[in-house]
Amino acid sequence: MRRARALIGIAALALAGGGAIAQDLPARCTDLTRADAAGRFVAMLDLARPESPLDGDDLLAVVDRSPEGALAPDYRPDDLVDLTTMRPARASQCTPPARQCLRREAAHAYRELARAMRDAGHVPHVTSAFRDYRVQCSTFQRWVSRGGFCEAAQASALPGHSQHQLGTTLDLFTYAWTLGGDKFRPGFGCSEGGRWLAEHAESFGFVVPYPLHPDHRVAGSTCAAIDGDEARLDPRTGYRYEPWHLRYVGRETVARFRAAREASGPDTAAEITLDQFLRAHRGAARPVGVPVCDGCNCDRCATYAPDGPCAPPAWRLDASGHLPAPAHAPRLRSAALSRRGPELVLEARIEVAPNTATHGPIVTERSGAWYARGAREVRLASGTSRAFPAIDGAHRLAIGFGDRGDWPWHAALVGPDRDGAENGFDAPIPAAPGVLVVRVPMRGVRAGTEVRVGIAHAHDPVALAWTGAAP
Ligand SMILES: [Zn+2]
Repeated sequence: MRRARALIGIAALALAGGGAIAQDLPARCTDLTRADAAGRFVAMLDLARPESPLDGDDLLAVVDRSPEGALAPDYRPDDLVDLTTMRPARASQCTPPARQCLRREAAHAYRELARAMRDAGHVPHVTSAFRDYRVQCSTFQRWVSRGGFCEAAQASALPGHSQHQLGTTLDLFTYAWTLGGDKFRPGFGCSEGGRWLAEHAESFGFVVPYPLHPDHRVAGSTCAAIDGDEARLDPRTGYRYEPWHLRYVGRETVARFRAAREASGPDTAAEITLDQFLRAHRGAARPVGVPVCDGCNCDRCATYAPDGPCAPPAWRLDASGHLPAPAHAPRLRSAALSRRGPELVLEARIEVAPNTATHGPIVTERSGAWYARGAREVRLASGTSRAFPAIDGAHRLAIGFGDRGDWPWHAALVGPDRDGAENGFDAPIPAAPGVLVVRVPMRGVRAGTEVRVGIAHAHDPVALAWTGAAP
């Protein structure tokens, strides 16, 4: 009875808070908070936090896909200027494509960039610069009508989560490129204009925050995607490759970011993005933002809402954006070994508490990744292979062989639907809560070999939980 009353109390509070916010939201945004036919929506608490602690005036604000990365709906810079006339403009007057605006400092930097671009023979073409919350609602809805909610969630930022709302970010193409059809078509990064921007934008204080992930690059190139497929999501940012999306952070910050990127391991999966750099600068607990729950990503999302589309969600943040500790460490319930063609398959059932963190390698039927005898690196579907070192706070399934005492193989605590392409970063991600079945394919393991299964936590010794003999 006491519990029931408490729940009603929370519901009433959420409704009252949500209702007050809803009145201030444009109609197109409240559409996003109502479930579509497939049950997809965004909780009001994640879409519109009037009390967001993010300071949009800060050139280094961390605005990303995570619940913590949202600007307040009413945030708009007060030093916007019209990019054509360089005269002050009110936010409500800046409606792309008719009028493009940036904050004064970013606008001056853009003018210099545009002049250099023209001198190099490329005519700059800005298709979008500052977009306020209301315009972002329309932008997101346009993507929804083109390809559905989940397609929109991959291609566009949710309102409040767009760097365009900062007034320091623009989508910049060359005029020649826009004449060739849909401007978002693949290939801009490797076009002459795209290459020029990649090489020169940073010297004017602009960064491409959504580069092509190193695992997705053709060897030796930073702009050509494997199989020409630029639609793969970058696990570091949650966005696809956007060589036209430029964010102004100033020359000084660019210099520090370049040094950090250089030290991180350029052209390897450890190469950091601007978002990771800014998060580290802010002292964020996690190096990448976990995206807001929207019903398309329930096994890999975070939320402030107790009643969101993914309840119980993978990660539930407290009001200050922190992740409460899980109730217990993952427990192995059972394990079994079987043969499937050349592969030995381990099937493990693991009890995972909500708010548990894990990380790659993500070994699933879809991932194409598998253990090879003696291997210490994971072979990915992309053809590359690499090691996945232990990460603070993260749990994994550990597998060892015989009495050697080591654990050469680890598997992430995620469901079978997770795509192996999400392997590409060394940061904790949400483990799937509940009783999880993890299947690990292995090659080159002889019949009779002893297989050990345990739970690994960060750098601690692995806790042995099961042993069996390979059939
Ligand atoms: Zn953009």
